[in-house]
Amino acid sequence: MSMRYFTILLFIGFRFAHTQVKSPDQFLGYTLGTYFSRHHQVTDYFRHLEAQASGMVKLQTYGKTNENRELLVAFISSPENISRLEQIRTNHETGKDENVAIVWLSYNVHGNESAGTEASMMTAHELLTARKEWLKNTIVIIDPCINPDGRDRYVNWYNQQMNSPYNAHVQTAEHDEPWPSGRPNHYLFDLNRDWAWLTQVESQQRIALYNRWLPHVHVDFHEQGMNEPYYFAPAAEPYHEVITKWQREFQNGVGRNNAKYFDQNGWFYFTREIFDLLYPSYGDTYPTYNGAIGMTYEQGGSGRGGLGVITDEGDTLTLRDRVLHHHMSGISTVEYSFLQKDRLIQEFNKFNTNKNYKYKTYAVGGNPEKVAILQALLDRHEILYTFGDGASIKGFDYTSGKQASMKLPESFILINTDQKKGTLVNVLFEPTTYLSDSLTYDITAWSLPYAFGLECIASETKVLGKASKQVVNNSIPASDTYAFLIRWDSMEDARVLSELLQKGVRVRYSESAFSFGDKKYAPGTLIIVRGENDQVNVDQLVKEVAQNNNITVESTTTGMVDTGKDFGSSAVKLIEQKRIAVLTGDASSSLNVGEVWHFMENELNYPVSMLNPSYLSASVLSSYDVLIVPEGWYSDLSGTLKSWVSSGGTVIAIGDALSMFNKDNGFSLEAKQDNKSDEKKEDRHEHAHIPYDKLERESVKDLITGAIFKCKVETTNPLAFGYGDTYFTLKLSGNAYNWIEDGGNVVYLDKDSKPVSGFAGCNVLPKQSESLVIGHEHMGGGMLVYMIDNPLFRGFWENGKLFFVNALFFN
Ligand SMILES: [Zn+2]
Repeated sequence: MSMRYFTILLFIGFRFAHTQVKSPDQFLGYTLGTYFSRHHQVTDYFRHLEAQASGMVKLQTYGKTNENRELLVAFISSPENISRLEQIRTNHETGKDENVAIVWLSYNVHGNESAGTEASMMTAHELLTARKEWLKNTIVIIDPCINPDGRDRYVNWYNQQMNSPYNAHVQTAEHDEPWPSGRPNHYLFDLNRDWAWLTQVESQQRIALYNRWLPHVHVDFHEQGMNEPYYFAPAAEPYHEVITKWQREFQNGVGRNNAKYFDQNGWFYFTREIFDLLYPSYGDTYPTYNGAIGMTYEQGGSGRGGLGVITDEGDTLTLRDRVLHHHMSGISTVEYSFLQKDRLIQEFNKFNTNKNYKYKTYAVGGNPEKVAILQALLDRHEILYTFGDGASIKGFDYTSGKQASMKLPESFILINTDQKKGTLVNVLFEPTTYLSDSLTYDITAWSLPYAFGLECIASETKVLGKASKQVVNNSIPASDTYAFLIRWDSMEDARVLSELLQKGVRVRYSESAFSFGDKKYAPGTLIIVRGENDQVNVDQLVKEVAQNNNITVESTTTGMVDTGKDFGSSAVKLIEQKRIAVLTGDASSSLNVGEVWHFMENELNYPVSMLNPSYLSASVLSSYDVLIVPEGWYSDLSGTLKSWVSSGGTVIAIGDALSMFNKDNGFSLEAKQDNKSDEKKEDRHEHAHIPYDKLERESVKDLITGAIFKCKVETTNPLAFGYGDTYFTLKLSGNAYNWIEDGGNVVYLDKDSKPVSGFAGCNVLPKQSESLVIGHEHMGGGMLVYMIDNPLFRGFWENGKLFFVNALFFN
């Protein structure tokens, strides 16, 4: 018998003889934790479970990643529950008793914390075999990998680099992951900072499914530094003050249950340290603010772990160990949830009733395009809102910081805390967040009205508003139009400009204000003159682009203004189609590179070249008009950049990259004196090796990790087009720079500035006084733009984005 024929027979026999559930080891052909499974192997295993587990598993694909990998969850429960899943879901949604606990386990949001996905398979298998009895009253939703692009980046790299057998010495190449690591997604975003802002496709697609289910318990499985043991609930302080007694109680209870099993196995762990519950965009806090018990579990390991690594204490930590620990905590959590199901259900329903928060209504309004962008975010969170109906509102005014009252026009939206999502509303909108402890690993302020640059009044009395508003049809100008006019004040306008430029339309802007009759137009208004655009079907194009982006186009029948400069004046400038590049590579902050990259491709929809600094020659630079220098720690590029800028180039430098543009190197930027260095806490996993109780409380005095400051804006400067005279910035570090003497101070802090929300350490607060936020200097025919506070931070500071666009095009 030929070998091939024999194999086929064996295969057929195997198929008929074993129509039951295989363990991951049987299915994959290796013991879990002795090899890294790639994403397609994992999804194949879950497909196997769905096919073979007698109606106990239902898979749901909920989307695709940027690199086209499948995003999916597995619902695991008794056949009876799985057969009526939708009915259970709607009963849960409407508060009808189902006697079923819903537990959602999310794995591997950080791609190189790679034990999670492996453990998800082991946990699913055990639930379907040894733990069947729990499933009568429990639905377990397993997301085996939130971030498959990042995870496969890590796994493919490791499989290529590893020694065979693996080498446990930490200095070998297989433990030294290259930039940008597998942690972030395709666009280098940290998906565990994105649950509330939903800038990334993974988050957007997941949240739609998450909101349909709103589980009782959610666990986000991570890994921390390889020398740490295991961390599970209860979480560290600070807890946000909205977190209920029950949510704290369950954290304690499940922690005790986990500890019992870890004790039995003689495993190390810690609780109540490092991982706090405040910033709302994590996989533990977001579920918590939506009524679940949201928790982070952290195994030691991460990118340096590989298949096995010798720790600083001389132990060998293997992937197998890491998998077993994550498996055990998962099983223990499902068990404890099963045992607590009555309380979980009861308390979840209680969570959804009115909490009587101090502020009952947030009335938010201003630029209609910005309001529309905010509405889209609220819709994704299933937060309800109404519209102004002319009634009065009185309360805290975000812009002035004082009490104010107004009559609410239709353009205002009203968001009440008396709704199912009321707690989330409270957390996202409250003007200041109460900090029980200033030691937190993340930003301490995020209030959405400031982030969106919108007016807001927070009222202690509920204001109802009306259910809908009149739809305004954007009228399209008549045929005797001389020029189309687009007011420049939101990202929607920026997208319109981007698209028109790429379609070959000649677009101008006025440097000064102008008017026709009683219609006044601010500087920066886009002007599209029909007469110079007869090479394209400009009427049709403008109409289409405006409708797609939901903006209003106005028109004029003459280029002769009543006040200001006529359209043929040299003050009305042509906007060039800029050729834009961004520095990338291991000297750059991968997060900031990703923010720029994602912004250009997904928000502005404008092409960008990613350049490695080693290619940065004069001839390469001559192909570009604008170079973005993201946050980073570069070897000195100032010589190359100076001559390129002098010949007409524009540099936009952000955050830490600014240190290169100092006076010693021939630039105008001057750091304010402070000898103490401040440290960023962007990556709390990397910092997890510092025991929390040893962190000197003193060091907090040197930090601003994310606080909101009120700034002044020099509105006549082209870089400030579209803004009023006030701007709220999210300050991300204690670094401060003097106002520029021979250049433009576009956005700046005045004397004695203090945060309107969030924490600022007392050692670095004084030097924020009279400091620069955004400025520029000219050099020869070119310009350098300095952005001290990264306006693209995590993609959520909506009101900072137009500054970035201004710097790209208005120079
Ligand atoms: Zn993590």
